Amino acid sequence: MNNYLFSVFELVEHTVKAYKDKEVLYDLKNRLTYGEFFQEANRLAAGLKKLGINKGDRVAVCLPNWNETAVIFVAAAKIGAILVPFNPKYKHHEVEYILKNSEPKVLFVTEQFDENIGFKQAFQVVKTLISVRFEHPDLLSYQEVASSASEDAPAEKLDVNNDLFCLLYTSGTTGIPKGVMISHRAIVQSANIMAKTIRCTEKDVFIVPAPLFHIFGMAVNLFCAISCGARIILQEKYHPKETLKLIEQEKVTIKQGVPAMFIKELEQEDFEDYDLSSLRAGIVGASPIPPNKVKEIRERMGINLCQSYGITETGSVTATDYDEQDERVILETVGKPIEGVKLKIVDENRQELPPGEVGEIAIHSFGTMKGYYKMKEQTEQVLDKEGWFYTGDLGVLDEKGNLRFVGRKKEMIIRGGFNIYPQEVEAVLTKHPQVVEAAVIGLPDEVMGESVCAVIKLKKGAACTEEELKEFVKAQMASYKVPNKIIFTEDFPVTASGKIQKVRLKDQVMEKFNFDA
Ligand code: ATP
Repeated sequence: MNNYLFSVFELVEHTVKAYKDKEVLYDLKNRLTYGEFFQEANRLAAGLKKLGINKGDRVAVCLPNWNETAVIFVAAAKIGAILVPFNPKYKHHEVEYILKNSEPKVLFVTEQFDENIGFKQAFQVVKTLISVRFEHPDLLSYQEVASSASEDAPAEKLDVNNDLFCLLYTSGTTGIPKGVMISHRAIVQSANIMAKTIRCTEKDVFIVPAPLFHIFGMAVNLFCAISCGARIILQEKYHPKETLKLIEQEKVTIKQGVPAMFIKELEQEDFEDYDLSSLRAGIVGASPIPPNKVKEIRERMGINLCQSYGITETGSVTATDYDEQDERVILETVGKPIEGVKLKIVDENRQELPPGEVGEIAIHSFGTMKGYYKMKEQTEQVLDKEGWFYTGDLGVLDEKGNLRFVGRKKEMIIRGGFNIYPQEVEAVLTKHPQVVEAAVIGLPDEVMGESVCAVIKLKKGAACTEEELKEFVKAQMASYKVPNKIIFTEDFPVTASGKIQKVRLKDQVMEKFNFDA
């Protein structure tokens, strides 16, 4: 059978046959071989079945990047249950919303959950809570469930195109959180194609600080590695020095992450002391990165890094080919659509635009979500009858079909009638030798509608003035794009996956400078 048509469980089963004794997971506490991983997933699947979990039931998971998290993913997939993995850092109202919306039969939790949310509160919505790595009198334990059944549960026959592997909730920065319905095919095909793109083999070792509850950690890292029998190092908490140390210690070959992670690692004063020679390839994506940073990472880390563009609702959709010879394509674009994906750029009326023109990115993919869970209207706003998904992102295609990400539609600044794409200004600012990171936002302006504000993180010990940076931008861009205001910061507010949260940043700036919304 074509690998793409495997269910998630079949994908794992297929790899296990070839690499039973090879290590698959190391979460800095425990190590598991493929054989042990598979056995544990089977035991847990049988235990969940015994608890009355059946095909289509939801299994919520509020755990960090632990081996158990990956085991639960495979166990639930085997019996056709739908995973609802979410961020352990979510606040009470976010968790309550997700649980009420998804109505899971069980919820896997850490000890910390009681402090953050409260077991009592969770019991009001979910009947069974399962404790992982701790015991509690009111909760079943992971070990108890995994050892409760005497026989394996049969693997559920699934329609991989339509049966759901998981519901991934958007963070709700743009409204109420939405449960993105993701099929087995979306995960498996994405994993396989990314593996092909980065020429992944069983010899590879991935470092995964990206959270497993996010599509990037789940499909592009975990299942991509598993599809080839590679080894995975899970980081529970991202720390740049720990990442660098682990690359050296575990001879990591593949490193995929958001720009901020790579940038933080390059910034470490002892960066040059680590032996990173094992690094081979990687993908940077999920948020914008200036071309000069891609170049710097490639050179200083000695890694064949390329960019990829993706979105939870469609999985990964583009990547730069590793054999690409054109430096402009590698540094400035997110590459071409991957196998099974079509892209087009459209205007406000959803009419296709020619290459070279900026418009909204629309995607047609094998991985497109089945819709937002229980949200027909919101689904219809973004997904048309032919299966095109309208991203709300702006992009432009070149003649060869490479996509350049221009920015999020909502983040575009309109100053005196002129459109300004924050990413373009950020790319210029980060060329300044003292600048590590830049985030450009629009602020309300009575006369011009909006003004341009740049929030800058400087190199350690650097001294650089607002005027100097304005002059630097002015020398390279039209004057209407030059920031009116420049603010210096030590750190940016970021999402769990490490993206700068522009909405929060804007709120912080507005509050600090007493702007009215
Ligand atoms: P949420 O929906 O949870 O609030 P989000 O909008 O970041 O968060 P995700 O699905 O995590 O949703 O990320 C998708 C978005 O990330 C895209 O719409 C795009 O704006 C951005 N993105 C993805 N890849 C890239 C890339 N290579 N370069 C720039 N931006 C990217």
